[in-house]
Amino acid sequence: MTSPSIPFRSFAPWLKERYGRPVYRVALDAGSTCPNRDGTKGFGGCTYCDVEGSGTGALKGGASLAAQLEEGLTRIARRGDGVGAIAYLQSYSNTYVDGARFEEVLEALRPAVEAPGSPVVGVSVATRPDCIPEDTLAALARLREVTDVWLELGLESANDQVLLDINRLHTLEEFHDAAERAHGADLLVVGHAILGLPGDGREGARATADALAAARVAGVKVHNLMVLEKTQMAHQYRKGELSVLEAEEYVQWLTDFVERLHPDQVLHRVTGDAPLEKRIAPRWNVYKNEIRERLAAELTRRLARQGSRCATEIGPAASPVS
Ligand code: SF4
Repeated sequence: MTSPSIPFRSFAPWLKERYGRPVYRVALDAGSTCPNRDGTKGFGGCTYCDVEGSGTGALKGGASLAAQLEEGLTRIARRGDGVGAIAYLQSYSNTYVDGARFEEVLEALRPAVEAPGSPVVGVSVATRPDCIPEDTLAALARLREVTDVWLELGLESANDQVLLDINRLHTLEEFHDAAERAHGADLLVVGHAILGLPGDGREGARATADALAAARVAGVKVHNLMVLEKTQMAHQYRKGELSVLEAEEYVQWLTDFVERLHPDQVLHRVTGDAPLEKRIAPRWNVYKNEIRERLAAELTRRLARQGSRCATEIGPAASPVS
């Protein structure tokens, strides 16, 4: 639940409570690709996604997963004694590989997960909701027997027409189906949302929060639409075909969104972090703490808190979040 002083549930304190220490993500590149780029689902990718698809290319550059993880653990160890880590398969659609390859990827992480005294407290896997075949889910469920496993699913908007317009090429129903099956495998599901997608509007932001609450996902990542270089949206923006939210507008929409989540859901992120040199719009600087503080202030001003407008019956969330 939220604390009396902070009217929403954020990830860092939740991690501290669960693991008794600060925990940081170590981003890993498993060399994955994306079905929305290679023609399986579509070509060209989602209109907001840059061609790098947030991939680091580390694996192609010769760094094995084990080496990437070791390097990341060394890096975060500098943050203090006894910190914990989440091995985070971040780039592209990490479950868009055949079952054997996915098993191999998880096996590469197992030694670090199972080593006595390991700082690794869990594994997080980012993917699309239409890329969760049963063998993949079974592999994640086996890993879940030894550690916490998050499955991050991009929903972005609950409006299928908006999803089609931005070339996501999956539906809300596919998201609900994936979330439900992942809950059945005891995974911690995290739903991603973007506020301000073209055609979605403030009502769309509210509807997306309603859908995430209804899906009972354990966690939510949300950020404002950002127009990046090397994207289809960059062309649309330059032609004046789309606009982005100003900071204050975003805080208002975000507050609407958080009011509608389930009170148990953990907010993993409330802003994006695209670097200014890649970002065409908006140009306002996104300081995570500042957005969090403004969100807290606006909830307080409204005499509201996370979940105070939740349309889903308040009961335990489907994922074991506490
Ligand atoms: S956002 Fe994800 S699904 Fe969309 S094109 Fe980029 S990597 Fe693929």
